[in-house]
Amino acid sequence: GQDRVFNFAAGPAILPENVLLKAQSELYNWRGTGMSVMEMSHRGKDFLSIIQKAESDLRALLNIPSDYDVLFLQGGATTQFAAIPLNLCTPNDAVDFVVTGSWGDKAFKESVKYCKPNVIWSGKPEKYTKIPSFDDLEQNPDAKYLHICANETIHGVEFKDYPIPRNRAGLLVADMSSNFCSKPVDVSKFGLIYAGAQKNVGPSGVTIVIVRKDLIGNAQEITPVMLDYKIHADNNSLYNTPPCFGIYMCGLVFEDLLAQGGLVEVEKKNSKKGKMLYDAIDESKGFYRCPVEKSVRSLMNVPFTLEKSELEGEFIKEAAKEKMLQLKGHRSVGGVRASIYNAMPLAGVEKLVAFMKDFQARHG
Ligand code: PMP
Repeated sequence: GQDRVFNFAAGPAILPENVLLKAQSELYNWRGTGMSVMEMSHRGKDFLSIIQKAESDLRALLNIPSDYDVLFLQGGATTQFAAIPLNLCTPNDAVDFVVTGSWGDKAFKESVKYCKPNVIWSGKPEKYTKIPSFDDLEQNPDAKYLHICANETIHGVEFKDYPIPRNRAGLLVADMSSNFCSKPVDVSKFGLIYAGAQKNVGPSGVTIVIVRKDLIGNAQEITPVMLDYKIHADNNSLYNTPPCFGIYMCGLVFEDLLAQGGLVEVEKKNSKKGKMLYDAIDESKGFYRCPVEKSVRSLMNVPFTLEKSELEGEFIKEAAKEKMLQLKGHRSVGGVRASIYNAMPLAGVEKLVAFMKDFQARHG
């Protein structure tokens, strides 16, 4: 629409325009029920049809095997930093962490309270610009699982394939908050995948956990009921009042992703957008620079700096005037960050790239 901007925020983030319009058209009176989704009983047949369809569409999108539960939870990915060790570990269990950015670091620090985690590799000395060679990782065979953050939202570092977990149970756990549903994923390689919805698949307030069924049911005794996967699995994510409207919105996004042809098609679009933006950075003769090693650059979050760093404020301000918003890098790293999630149209990236070239011509 006329007055929409290109929103490059890292999350909450841009949502597909057709999804917003569909939600708008159904907001006041959902399918002749005489009420909005926000007003429905979470136990009524209408909302049940909404949550069941959201789950089955997500299962179709990611080809989720039947021995995995899909949980729609609350508390953000941050709550999962605690819930995962509480559900999967005893207090004395070791866990391996590969830390490729500040989200992995946060997950590690929270887990210290509930298990005995070890950082087996950290990208911190190199300012989180790399992912290690998997062969060089010294994994602990006694670790309960290996934890990674599949896409580091702040640093723009993304796993392109995944390490084979060498712990006895063969368990890999991944935070996919910022690249969830951006490309096909072989779910069977993971014991557990978790993601906050507010980047690629919906509004904040919904957290999705995909967990292999045999891993649940052994939560630590101190586990709050709201963090116990077994409780949520046994109750189809309806143990208490779920974030109904958020789940509905996620369902609309899943429907839209399927209509686009599924995640193979979505990945093609994301690759094209990412290449266009990284090419613009790399071909700027150093005017713009992305610090991340080329082979692991994120297709979702593109951080870059200006050679003349004193121009970054001006860059962000001028871009905002042209309706390209939220390009400021995370406060911990500075610079510029363009988040180009699924819902960012190619036209948004084209406009940003044209602006970058023009800005360079004027300031280079
Ligand atoms: N993990 C990653 C990769 C993230 O990007 C974020 C949010 N930016 C989080 C975890 C924390 O998510 P939440 O705010 O939903 O708790």
